[in-house]
Amino acid sequence: MARPGVFLDRDGVVNRAAVVDGHPFPPASVGELEILPGVVDACAQFRRAGLAVIVVTNQPDVARGSTTRSSIEAINDALCARVPVDELVVCFHDDADACGCRKPAPGLLVEAAQRWSIALNESVMVGDRWSDVRAGHEAGCATIWVDNGYDERRPDEQDLTVANLADAVPWILAHCRAGAAT
Ligand SMILES: [Mg+2]
Ligand SMILES: [Zn+2]
Repeated sequence: MARPGVFLDRDGVVNRAAVVDGHPFPPASVGELEILPGVVDACAQFRRAGLAVIVVTNQPDVARGSTTRSSIEAINDALCARVPVDELVVCFHDDADACGCRKPAPGLLVEAAQRWSIALNESVMVGDRWSDVRAGHEAGCATIWVDNGYDERRPDEQDLTVANLADAVPWILAHCRAGAAT
């Protein structure tokens, strides 16, 4: 039977994003990876509640030539070793590839939902950018925006706005419980 899930953006939600000129950037190496406060506990609570926990991340810098796939995979491996998640899935494409998985497209969420038997309409997407909220909305999930104060387009279709993932835990647990009960 399908169960609810929590989809988490990576940079700025699970780990700290570097902010340059008001825009977020991913860590460049494992040494720069810093898991944000409350994230490990939040994910543990989600999993105890029976929710699938999936990280969905755009990483276009390989396509842009500014990093390597192995560098990104080392960061992802380190993240998964520290944070209890079921899977971390990556879109390595850039806009020119016109793929179905680069957020705001919902492909990463839809494919993971099939793999893990996740009921998208009972699930939640949490992200810190407009494209995360759009992808969650497109996939049929409830959406939560983590407002990190970036100087860029703000989403307007989210169900909840929070300062960090930890602050969203009660809402997520209540939402997924309600969905699973119907
Ligand atoms: Mg982000
Ligand atoms: Zn893609």
